[in-house]
Amino acid sequence: MRTPGRILLRAAPALLAAVLALDIALMLRSPSLWMLPAVLAGWYAADLMSGVVHMYMDYRPCPPLPGLNAMFFYEGARDSEEYIALRDETFASLGPFERLVYDFKNHHPRPDALGRRSLRITTEPTVLFTTLPFALGANMLAGALALAGIATPGWAIAGMIAFVLGATFAQYFHGSLHREDVPWLVRAMRRARLLMRPEDHVAHHDTLTRDFSTINGWSNPPLNLIFRTLRQKGRLRDEGLIPR
Ligand SMILES: [Zn+2]
Ligand SMILES: [Zn+2]
Repeated sequence: MRTPGRILLRAAPALLAAVLALDIALMLRSPSLWMLPAVLAGWYAADLMSGVVHMYMDYRPCPPLPGLNAMFFYEGARDSEEYIALRDETFASLGPFERLVYDFKNHHPRPDALGRRSLRITTEPTVLFTTLPFALGANMLAGALALAGIATPGWAIAGMIAFVLGATFAQYFHGSLHREDVPWLVRAMRRARLLMRPEDHVAHHDTLTRDFSTINGWSNPPLNLIFRTLRQKGRLRDEGLIPR
C-alpha cells in the first residue's frame, strides 16, 4: 500500500542525492588541500555517531510487551504463519522507533538477518529521519550565512558530505560485516581501513560491552571509555539488552 509515509521513505534518498549533488558543485567552487583532513574528520564523526546510536539502542529497554519477549525467544521457524502473526500483532502496537530499538536487541542472537537485508531497507529510514533533515539543516545554515556575507569554505562542505554519506550507509556497512558476498567497493574500502573488517566486529558480539562503532571502528577506543564510565555510574544496565 502506498501510504504517504511510505512514499516519503522512497523519495528521501533521491532528495538527499540531489542535495549532495548541489553541495558537491558548491564545494568544487573553492577546492583546497584542507578538504582531505575534513573528509577524514567527517568519516570519523559518522563512525562515532554509528557507535553512539548503537550503544543507546542496544541498552535502551523495550516497552514491556509480552509479544516482544515471545518474539525474541521464539524457537520455531521465523517464516512460519504463527511467528509472522505474532510479529505483526506485536509491531502493530509499536511506533517505528520502538521497532528499531527491538531490532537492535534482535541483532545479537541473529546477526546474519541484518546481513540479508537490502541496501534500500538498511538506508531508507536513516535517510528520512536523520541524514536528510541534517543535510537540509546544514544547507539552510550555509544559506543564512551566505546572506550575511559569510561563504562556507569548500573543506567544510567536504566534511559535511563525508559525514552524511557515512551516517547514511552506517547500517548497511554494519550488515555487510555479517555477510560473505560484499561489493568490490566495500572490500577495497576495508583494505584501505576506511571500513572495518568482520573480525573487527567480533568483540562486540562476544561481549556486548565494547566496540559499538560499525563503520571503521576509529572511534571505538574513546567510546569504549565512555561506555565503561556510564556502566560504573549504573547506566546502560544489562536488563536493557533483552525484551522483558
Ligand atoms: Zn549491538
Ligand atoms: Zn553486528
